[in-house]
Amino acid sequence: MFLFFTFAKIADMMDSKAYVCPFRVGNGYDVHALAPGIPMWLGGVGIDSPVGFVAHSDGDVAIHALCDALLGCLALGDIGHHFPDTSDEFRGIDSKLLLARVVALLEEKGWKVGNADITIALQKPKIGSYVPSMRRTLAAVMGIDEDCVSVKATTTEKMGFVGRCEGCQVWATALVYRI
Ligand code: MG
Repeated sequence: MFLFFTFAKIADMMDSKAYVCPFRVGNGYDVHALAPGIPMWLGGVGIDSPVGFVAHSDGDVAIHALCDALLGCLALGDIGHHFPDTSDEFRGIDSKLLLARVVALLEEKGWKVGNADITIALQKPKIGSYVPSMRRTLAAVMGIDEDCVSVKATTTEKMGFVGRCEGCQVWATALVYRI
């Protein structure tokens, strides 16, 4: 009896038009390896560093995670799908342009960015002093208030690949709302 009720209910739900919440959240994650002699871009800002990120684009791992979080809000796939690293168009590209394109895509579909929260794990160099300009820059690209962009920097206490200064890892969460 219970099973029958459950199946009937599920069939019912599949028939009806599902309610779409006017708020959506998404998460993003990215990692890039570090290598000497490459300019470091992180959170849209140039960092004074003897090492930078190995990448097809400018390697801005924070923006890549943020783009994935924003795309995730609308189940639009990931950054690799929209900007493939096999395309010459994106070779060495400023990741701020990729972020602007993701935001434009969301707006085309009737959604705006509410806020974003980004956590960067990097052992060296120390990036704490760059956080205010990262927030300002990312907010400007997304067309939202600086108060709506959080950037947090941490080390991994010298543990793992981040701790050994082999790479950087970033997590991002974003919320979008229907216009
Ligand atoms: Mg990436």
